[in-house]
Amino acid sequence: MIARAMQELVQNSSAIRAMFEEGRRMAAEYGAENVYDFSLGNPNVPAPAGVGAQIRNLTETVPPLKLHGYMPNAGFEEVRERIADSLNKRFFTSFGSYNILMTVGAAGGLNVALKTLLDPGDEVLVFAPFFGEYRSYVANHQGVLRVVPPEPEHFLLNLEAAERLVSRQTKAVILNNPNNPTGVVYPEDQIRQLSELLCRMEKKYGTSIYLISDEPYRELVYDGKKVPFLTKYYHNTIVGYSFSKSLSLPGERIGYLVMPDELDDARQIQAAAAVANRVLGFVNAPSLMQLAVAGCLEAKVDLDFYDRNRKSLCEGLDRYGYSYVKPEGAFYLWLKSPLEDERDFVAEAKKEHLLLVPGRSFEGPGYVRIAYCVSPETIERSMPAFGRLAERTVR
Ligand code: PLP
Repeated sequence: MIARAMQELVQNSSAIRAMFEEGRRMAAEYGAENVYDFSLGNPNVPAPAGVGAQIRNLTETVPPLKLHGYMPNAGFEEVRERIADSLNKRFFTSFGSYNILMTVGAAGGLNVALKTLLDPGDEVLVFAPFFGEYRSYVANHQGVLRVVPPEPEHFLLNLEAAERLVSRQTKAVILNNPNNPTGVVYPEDQIRQLSELLCRMEKKYGTSIYLISDEPYRELVYDGKKVPFLTKYYHNTIVGYSFSKSLSLPGERIGYLVMPDELDDARQIQAAAAVANRVLGFVNAPSLMQLAVAGCLEAKVDLDFYDRNRKSLCEGLDRYGYSYVKPEGAFYLWLKSPLEDERDFVAEAKKEHLLLVPGRSFEGPGYVRIAYCVSPETIERSMPAFGRLAERTVR
């Protein structure tokens, strides 16, 4: 008998699995080139060549007992130091190695942060629409999720609604910039307003409210957009970073947390997070990958590839009169469903072999997510299908 809490999670997983299986079934029936799968956020630009070269070099030069051995739970000292130096150069911060904790991707990092901070019943605010896994991560640590409803026009931060939801119980706020699923980059003025709001609420309740900035898409921005580095704006910020998207290494499970000295109880939090890394069963982030990314901190995937996809997708959708939020970052486009219930639209899209994700998976009903981390040919060939779909649904 599995735990009751797991039963629901398993059911949700089977729904996602069913969609994946359906995609495979359709590919087998109609030919993979005639099925346009925009459902998965799986990077399709290869890791920069330097990553492979780095890994080969490490396996040939680093003694195996170091390369594959246990280490301090927070990660290799020299890796954390190089990451701190690189952040300091880019963002004019003054981090040391002790501010950095190597994690098992962003997912591992978020779980470590929440394990470190939450007592049962503590509340965590998230801005809808959001990456659905947050729900599970918060539940993992007996937190209570409070969902800030979307700002329905531009999908920026709905700060008025957030203010109404912050309470004495609010322990953390998760912010994802650039955003999955909308592709929005929250601008600096909103970040400032959010920081002011949280400072005001900390004073009002005499509590500490930690802002967890989930940033796996930080490097994936277009048209020269800037993603504010949040530790500069709000004292209680923990940054969660991942190399899954910036270096196309999602299967390698490597990222880090930044825990600045400005945090309330910084030393305790830094020490507790290392223990959380261990007791959650990660023990430490993968050793070879820690050393590999430390040698590639200035590298990133070919952004032009995603940018070209973004432009050709937008051009195509414009031709057929679709409405959407103009994507500024990540590799997602947030399309307004022409049908009231976006699940009906997703079903209609499937008839055209277009696989899209309903917005309610991200608490954003009325919209669908299109992941454009696909081949340019997929976008090009899918356009007639989008055209036929528009004829039937766009009024
Ligand atoms: N946060 C967001 C918003 C994501 O979209 C993802 C993955 O898609 C993650 C976290 C998890 O990233 P990672 O693979 O680094 O654990």
